[in-house]
Amino acid sequence: MNNKYQLIYEGKAKKVFSHDDADKVFIEFKDDATAFNALKKAKFEGKGKLNCLISARIFEHLIKHNIPTHFLKLKNDNTMIAQKIKVIPLEIVLRNIAYGSLCKQTTIKSRTNLVKPLIDIYLKNDELNDPLITKDRIELMNILSSKDLDLMIDLTLKINIILKNFFKNIQLQLVDFKLEFGYDFENKILLGDEISPDNCRLWDLNQNNDTIVSLDKDRFRNDLGGLLEAYSEIYSRINNFIELN
Ligand code: UDP
Repeated sequence: MNNKYQLIYEGKAKKVFSHDDADKVFIEFKDDATAFNALKKAKFEGKGKLNCLISARIFEHLIKHNIPTHFLKLKNDNTMIAQKIKVIPLEIVLRNIAYGSLCKQTTIKSRTNLVKPLIDIYLKNDELNDPLITKDRIELMNILSSKDLDLMIDLTLKINIILKNFFKNIQLQLVDFKLEFGYDFENKILLGDEISPDNCRLWDLNQNNDTIVSLDKDRFRNDLGGLLEAYSEIYSRINNFIELN
């Protein structure tokens, strides 16, 4: 990034830089991959670019469906321009199918189709290991009003319907995903962060047996190999679909 822009924040997978306009930022996607609260780390050359391009395509699709997001446009393949937001320190996970931590923490059997989407909210706090929290605890910590929390949950449910359809069109099953939101300068809630195989579980539907083929970060979490191939596959399916529609 041009050094006239200041690094405002560096996270595990992205760097955020100032922009000429005070209400915008540049978000640069890194090649680093982390899992289990950064206990496991690796670098995959080209992952940043793939996640940035995939996220941009998905944000564009959500914007078309009237979802308010921070995405404005791509600057280059691994950097996007976004509205500057004050990030709400919550991670909203929506699950369509039981997998991952849900099955480790409950008696729900792995791969159970959930009758209705389940929303799990985690406090975004590395020191506390992002604990699962409750509505009442959120209120107690004054993180946001219950009206805004409901609005965020409502947006998440709408996003799920749009994304489930989107991915189904490209033969992918949306198992679960994590979203983050923030307030823009007018105090409006916008979807932030990224939507990519780093924070969605996506299973290939092009299978004729019931083996799970993960095309997401589980390839890294579970040492399955082929992470870049999986992310490239997703990007090319998205592009082929967009070209045809
Ligand atoms: N997730 C994420 N960041 C996190 C934790 C989870 O993006 O810090 C995503 C993850 O990729 C998956 C969903 O949220 O799509 C649900 O993850 P889960 O709670 O099952 O945790 P995990 O099994 O990954 O520990």
